[in-house]
Amino acid sequence: MILLDGSTGEGGGQVLRTALSLSMVTRTPFVIENIRAKRRRPGLMRQHLTALAAAQAICHATVEGGELGSCRLQFTPGPVRGGKYRFAVGTAGSATLVLQTVLPALMIAGEPSELQLSGGTHNPFAPPYPHLAECFLPWINKMGPRVEAELHRPGFYPAGGGEFSVRIEPCSRLAPIDIAARGTIVRRTARILVAGLASGIAERQRELLMQWTTLGSEDIVVEILPNSVGPGNAVVLSLQAEHITEILVGCGEKELSSAAMIERLVKEMRTYISSNAPVGRHLADQLLLPMALAGSGRFVTMPLSSHAQTNIEVIRRFLSVPIVAVSQPDGLAEVQIGR
Ligand code: ATP
Repeated sequence: MILLDGSTGEGGGQVLRTALSLSMVTRTPFVIENIRAKRRRPGLMRQHLTALAAAQAICHATVEGGELGSCRLQFTPGPVRGGKYRFAVGTAGSATLVLQTVLPALMIAGEPSELQLSGGTHNPFAPPYPHLAECFLPWINKMGPRVEAELHRPGFYPAGGGEFSVRIEPCSRLAPIDIAARGTIVRRTARILVAGLASGIAERQRELLMQWTTLGSEDIVVEILPNSVGPGNAVVLSLQAEHITEILVGCGEKELSSAAMIERLVKEMRTYISSNAPVGRHLADQLLLPMALAGSGRFVTMPLSSHAQTNIEVIRRFLSVPIVAVSQPDGLAEVQIGR
């Protein structure tokens, strides 16, 4: 039984999600205390409960303390079973984080899986669907499994109600990947997603993007999403380089002006471009666990966030594979997994 302190490092939900994923894969039980101790509302929220229920269903786990607001949880996994599953967050809580929790076990399971996930799909503090589909999954597919996602309906805060499906053809052994260089950025595009809001918002955001970046009108498309349950807006920047595609997403919020949202996004884009790193901040965080499962690999990224460092600490509790992050003279970090 592994004992984890949920207030470690970042002290957020990632400690729990990573522990669930690795407990399923290694079939090691764990107890976690002080769940999300450093968050404004600590304990298990709806999104974490759905991730927990998903993990429990997939490996027939025994769970103690799996209630809303709970700060202590015991999870004892059984064998992982692929198959058809449906997981609904029920609020605008992130459905992509539910997938993040169960994907590691399902992509190396004995059978294929088909998942239907519902909840938030374009959330500010979680992988927005375009990042999942266009940035994260292509690397997972390079590691051997075949994972295909399809968005049926977007889900924005506060209405939620988004839906996507994922088909997983597992592989028995994950292949290592090496992402050492970005190469030249060959294409930059933007998609402005608008659901149930005045089209003037998209026009304003298009103007701001053209004013503050080198994107021309031919590089920017506006997508009106007809079937969203509630209103929502997101701007998706795609930076396609020779060796990697980075996806940056800005999510509209009620009290956030278009100018403030685009300014933040453009700043994020400039930081990524000027860093010269191939792997962006969020992808770095998300690749650690699958690469640790592969047993070896390497990537170059921006200085590791405390979120990623916390993730490494939790991975080390379950797996003995070495993970070393070395700062380079140009300010980047090289993350080496295995020897
Ligand atoms: P919680 O809010 O449940 O306590 P947490 O604080 O541990 O969770 P977050 O920092 O919200 O977690 O991040 C959760 C995951 O979402 C991480 O894998 C992170 O890389 C990813 N993520 C957050 N924002 C983005 C984004 N804009 N693009 C891509 N991925 C993102």
